[in-house]
Amino acid sequence: MLSPVLEKILILQDRDGRRIGLETQLQAVPKDVVLVENKIAAEKTAIEEAKMELRQLETDKKLLETEIGSTEDKLGKYRTQQSAVKKNDEYQALGHQIETTEAEVSKMEEKELEIMYAIDESKKRFQAAEKVLQENIAGHEGKIVALGERKTNLESELATVQAEVAAAREPVEDRPLALYDRIAKLYMPVCVPLKGGKCGGCHLKVSSEVESTSRSKSLDNELATCDQCSRLVYWES
Ligand SMILES: [Zn+2]
Repeated sequence: MLSPVLEKILILQDRDGRRIGLETQLQAVPKDVVLVENKIAAEKTAIEEAKMELRQLETDKKLLETEIGSTEDKLGKYRTQQSAVKKNDEYQALGHQIETTEAEVSKMEEKELEIMYAIDESKKRFQAAEKVLQENIAGHEGKIVALGERKTNLESELATVQAEVAAAREPVEDRPLALYDRIAKLYMPVCVPLKGGKCGGCHLKVSSEVESTSRSKSLDNELATCDQCSRLVYWES
């Protein structure tokens, strides 16, 4: 049988344990919200990046088209000039220039095809990124709402347990309560059973003196503490 003071301390410890558990869960809620918000942000960034890539490719395509247009104009002028010249060497020189310019145009047209292909691929990536967000956004928002509800529930549970802790502290005498509080700052649980002469907290063997104090059936409220970790120990038969 446990001494009355230990019984009261074990009740307090049980409620304190639940309080700490709820506080830990509450602290995790904002972190979980941030995780979900980060996912949403990452998906939006992916869309933004795909959009910028697409815009850049479209700008490149327009510039290239302008360049092709002006090079073709030049080519037209060379051809007109060539039809007007009388001298053979001038005719040949223009012919060479026409060839070079034609090669330039076909090179640019090849490049244009590459850009058009890249635009198609970029559009696909943009649509895929948008699809990911659309598919996930409801789930993300649902999670944030659920986390908000969880926070409210935990807060109300915590308020209840805090009141229970306060009620459990009431009947504990000052000295054991101060001892309990001092140990609770270091570790929980504060009060542990002795098993085979070993402290249930640090698992080290306690002295025979501590063991006999813990076994004492007297109701003089003498509390046994572990020689190693100073937790309150009680004999469990
Ligand atoms: Zn110990």
